[in-house]
Amino acid sequence: MNNIYLVPGPTTVPAKIRAIYQHDFGSSDLDSDFFQLYSATEQLLQQLFGTTNSVVMMTGEAMLGLWGGLKSCLQPGDKVVSIANGVFGRGIGEMAQSLGAEVEFVEFPFYEAASDFERIDTVVKRVQPKMITAVHCETPSGILNPIAEIGAIKAKYNTPLLYVDAVASLGGAPVEVDNWHIDICLGGSQKVLSCPPDMTLLSVSPTAWETIQQVNYSGYDALGPYFNALKQQLFPYTPHWRGIAALTLATKMLLEEGLEQVFARHQQVATFCREKIAELGLTIYPHDKIYAAPTVTAINVPKNFTWNKLNNSLREHGLIVGGSFGPLAEKVFRIGHMGSQADMKLIKNALSILKLALAL
Ligand SMILES: *Cc1c(COP(=O)(O)O)cnc(C)c1O
Repeated sequence: MNNIYLVPGPTTVPAKIRAIYQHDFGSSDLDSDFFQLYSATEQLLQQLFGTTNSVVMMTGEAMLGLWGGLKSCLQPGDKVVSIANGVFGRGIGEMAQSLGAEVEFVEFPFYEAASDFERIDTVVKRVQPKMITAVHCETPSGILNPIAEIGAIKAKYNTPLLYVDAVASLGGAPVEVDNWHIDICLGGSQKVLSCPPDMTLLSVSPTAWETIQQVNYSGYDALGPYFNALKQQLFPYTPHWRGIAALTLATKMLLEEGLEQVFARHQQVATFCREKIAELGLTIYPHDKIYAAPTVTAINVPKNFTWNKLNNSLREHGLIVGGSFGPLAEKVFRIGHMGSQADMKLIKNALSILKLALAL
């Protein structure tokens, strides 16, 4: 029996994408075919990000972009307002602190969305930060935060930079970088795009580029060298041709299906998952299902189980799902239904296995 993998990233890589990694390409430092591919992929990704801003593709897992975006824009003493209603939101604020930024957290319980806009407005008004940070999909708690309203607050107070982690939503839910006033928006290859965990994606606004130039950070994760990389045909290190070719195909597959259709597929699977969870007598972790993410469902571990016992039983039946992190470890488990895993047949099978495991 084949296992069913519904881990919320890295997701299952479809055979068509895996096949790209068997190809041999030329030299990505020198070959004009590579530069054309990079440029074409950037244009495809702009459609996912909903932007005319440039999109940088760096070799490395999404954390590379999370760090690179902060290090390239922040200097010690810079003020940052960090919206923290989850493991990643909190973590990004702490990363900014580690760089010497003065961070003010706007905290919410992890089971709530960052939807008290008055509170956020008040803090931004008082602090006048250089940057606001937020997370679109908080994967460990299964929450999709409303970024449009946070973007409106950024615009209202002319905050220079809005930094948004959309790693677990990009492609699976609408992300509107331009309409939401996002300056640095982060994506990764191993979530909805269903590629290996080898690429980080960042949309970078003109204001962010100006800041990046002023800060002039240098390091492997520095964004600066990407500003003119295509024009000068000079990347800071050998780019990952296979990884970028895989992103091209993955993005084309989503665009050919149609983004509206892709978002509807994610919604349909998520809704079905939540309904079945309720039928099984389980509860989802987010208190308000309006903010439950379309890409991942976080479920409270039932009282008569430990996560370990439940996980072992699910694995015996061939279902691999995720636990959670930080304060949610052992308390919450997660079904990842993003990208290749946003599939009605897979989720139906998975939920029958969950039912069996619970009956033990
Ligand atoms: C997956 C993910 C990342 C990347 O982190 P890893 O845990 O290293 O995969 C960053 N932000 C969010 C919201 C994610 O879901």
